[in-house]
Amino acid sequence: MRVLIVEDEVRLAATLQDLMELNGYTADVFHDGEAGLDNALTGIYDVMLLDVMLPKLDGFSVLRRLREAGSAVPVLMLTARSEVSDKVEGLDCGADYYLTKPFDPKELLACVRALVRRQPELRDPDALEYGGLRLEKSAFTLSCGGRSVRLSRKEYDIMELLMRNRNLVVAKESLLVKVWGYESDAEDNNVEVYISFLRKKLTHLRAQVKIKTIRMVGYCLEAENG
Ligand code: CA
Repeated sequence: MRVLIVEDEVRLAATLQDLMELNGYTADVFHDGEAGLDNALTGIYDVMLLDVMLPKLDGFSVLRRLREAGSAVPVLMLTARSEVSDKVEGLDCGADYYLTKPFDPKELLACVRALVRRQPELRDPDALEYGGLRLEKSAFTLSCGGRSVRLSRKEYDIMELLMRNRNLVVAKESLLVKVWGYESDAEDNNVEVYISFLRKKLTHLRAQVKIKTIRMVGYCLEAENG
């Protein structure tokens, strides 16, 4: 479970990071709105803690742009201000929950747990499901109906990213970085090869889900029936 913390008060950000990590989450911290937005858009986070008053881009704008880009990541807004109008603006921008500083760490943890519970694919940490497809983490299998295939490590990693970002375009560049890593010599061509393996497996499974190529950008997982 990966938490994105966007908070410019450095000590508070570090406290939040410790709190998350002590409770079994992986947490990354960014101190301004632009860096927060860029990272939220990678789609690798399960929950985002977002401060309102931030340098470069305020929390409301970050959230608005995130939702405009199609991201459904659960967002918990944090603010020092307690005015009702802020709360309303936050919720209008697409926040899932709102906490006023200073808050009780127990309350914060309860909110994070509640947001995580609302994401169906995170309820079962061992499987992701989409359009009749099921991706099993422990067994590295992809199944549909009664049929099932094993995936290689890279096929699995690509499929997981596509399923977590269902209906969103995943850039070829981010597949390369997340699956092969920054230091690797892998090229676009490697991604294409693995995508073609996955397409063959989807066909074999007679899945109603396909990997669409978005020219010059990347790939998008789409269920044929909507
Ligand atoms: Ca702030």
